[in-house]
Amino acid sequence: MESDYLPISKNFATLSIHSGNTGEDSEYACVVPPIVSSVNFRLNFSLTEDSISQKYTYSKIANPTRNNLEQCLATLEGAKYGLCFSSGGGGLSSLLAMLKPGSHIICNNSIFGGTVVLLNNIANSFSFTTSYVDMHNLENLVNAIQPNTALIWTESISNPLMKVADIKNISRVAKERNVLLAVDNTFLTPYFHRPLELGADIVNYSLTKYFNGHCDIIMGSLLVNKKELYDKLSFIQCAMGIVPSSFDCAEMIKSLKTFALRMKQHSINAIKVASQTSGHSGMVSFYINGDLKQTKQLLNNFKLIIPTTSFGAIESIAEIPLLISQSPVPSKQRDPKVTNNLVRLSVGLENDEDIINDLDQALNSL
Ligand SMILES: *Cc1c(COP(=O)(O)O)cnc(C)c1O
Repeated sequence: MESDYLPISKNFATLSIHSGNTGEDSEYACVVPPIVSSVNFRLNFSLTEDSISQKYTYSKIANPTRNNLEQCLATLEGAKYGLCFSSGGGGLSSLLAMLKPGSHIICNNSIFGGTVVLLNNIANSFSFTTSYVDMHNLENLVNAIQPNTALIWTESISNPLMKVADIKNISRVAKERNVLLAVDNTFLTPYFHRPLELGADIVNYSLTKYFNGHCDIIMGSLLVNKKELYDKLSFIQCAMGIVPSSFDCAEMIKSLKTFALRMKQHSINAIKVASQTSGHSGMVSFYINGDLKQTKQLLNNFKLIIPTTSFGAIESIAEIPLLISQSPVPSKQRDPKVTNNLVRLSVGLENDEDIINDLDQALNSL
């Protein structure tokens, strides 16, 4: 069975095999870049300049094998910059080291235990305070923001309760209040989800999990688009010494060769284990941010999707359950979640981009 879920980029498998594979030292025309285990690099002193301009001087600062991996991770994430750490927790520690003492952090209340340990037992020693809120309700997030709030931390899908975070709206709040948003995307990986594209400032991974996939490397990474963040984090990566070894980086590069294959099969297997179905049909229901008038207007705005009753046709069809399919149900008996802003969509067989574009234009012209 094919997975219901597709990789985020059509090129994912190709990139995970080829990206970052350009060996710095091409003397031997290696297909697989050599592992550069050297800690230090011979320096060539310029007689006219005092500063050292060589890219590699000491491996804690920069190492060719680590750089290959960082480049590959950035490419897979669609990010400008990637940084690797000696564990996923090391990535978060480096992020905390970037904040001013006394900063306030807002963390989703359903979160990986190791993150809570770090925030409750280490971050407080740096006089950071943390508020745990259920970000499922954006109001909780807005209400928790304080003048010294510096970081919002959430998992895209929470460990272990699988709560989904609305990254786009959380990032809107973060931007309005000038707070950094970091998303731990360890459960989904860039194969399925790229938080930077939805407005996050920083993506965190425990590479120990799916990226590695073979239970033999502990490693973490942070991905960012802003040069300013990259510069600060790479300074901290070296200054705090939270770097992985070149051997581990080479092993991680090898793990990535099968990343796409593995994620696809994980997804197929998980759906079989978790679901009483072997897939899903074309039915999707969603709420709009509006009232009944706007819901009707949305359906009138569609150019491709047909506003009508019934479903399961090759044409995409939308209806307002409250007015149509649920209208015979007495209001007392009706599930309160069937509200006047609920739309039921039967996704048809037109080109998927055409369907998405029609939804976009209809929603944008509300
Ligand atoms: C495992 C995990 C981490 C920590 O990763 P380590 O590599 O063990 O430090 C962070 N976030 C999530 C969601 C995890 O599952």
